[in-house]
Amino acid sequence: GCTITNLHKSYGDVEVLKGISVDVKPGEVVCLIGPSGSGKSTLLRCINLLEEPNDGTITVAGFDATDPDVQLDEMRAHVGMVFQSFNLFPHMSALDNCSIAQRRVLGRSRDEADATSREHLEQVGLAELADRYPDQLSGGQQQRVAIARALSMQPSLMLFDEPTSALDPETVGDVLGVMRQLAKAGMTMVVVTHEMGFARDVADRVLFMDGGLLVEQGPAREVIGNPQHERTQSFLARVL
Ligand code: ATP
Ligand code: MG
Repeated sequence: GCTITNLHKSYGDVEVLKGISVDVKPGEVVCLIGPSGSGKSTLLRCINLLEEPNDGTITVAGFDATDPDVQLDEMRAHVGMVFQSFNLFPHMSALDNCSIAQRRVLGRSRDEADATSREHLEQVGLAELADRYPDQLSGGQQQRVAIARALSMQPSLMLFDEPTSALDPETVGDVLGVMRQLAKAGMTMVVVTHEMGFARDVADRVLFMDGGLLVEQGPAREVIGNPQHERTQSFLARVL
């Protein structure tokens, strides 16, 4: 799981996160929604310290992320992250993309890493394409490799930042399908998404952010189907 308490983050004079507290329980799937610029990506990036918070505490996968002495590599190995732009290594096959961090960070042998990678490539439906390079894969296939790569590290939490926003419409379903499976299998997930159907069907809880604040949260069906806050209502009216 992951516990965030009173998180503040500024860029220069601009406060982007104004005191966010969130508790994600093990096995829980949380979708984070909200308008552009509300701070969703910043919040996600603070969880694995891609951004350094100015104030507040974060514990994630048993690590105190805001302890200055935290072992960053070790902590990040437990927190998988999938971005809008897949960020695969272009000069490596799908298999090597999945294996490299296992070997470098976890110290696995090539055989052990490749075996784990193949398992996860199969899990995302790409067993046959392990030897392809990123430019020989569709966007949806590349994103599924990125998911397999993250899973190959055996994370206890997965963060997704608009994983389908850069995809052609016909490949979105495959990626959402993989995420749905993952949720069903009990993975703890925090997902920034504009896919309201996915949020409604898959999320245990939906958080609505606006202006660096958590404005409303609750069970997916309640927040999306019957939002209480005026700002949530007007946001959903625009995106639904
Ligand atoms: P979107 O839906 O467009 O992805 P978001 O909710 O993810 O938006 P963030 O990317 O977290 O929003 O950005 C929140 C605010 O912080 C924005 O006003 C953005 O301009 C600002 N911001 C983000 N990163 C930086 C940075 N590195 N330096 C300065 N300002 C930044
Ligand atoms: Mg964003």
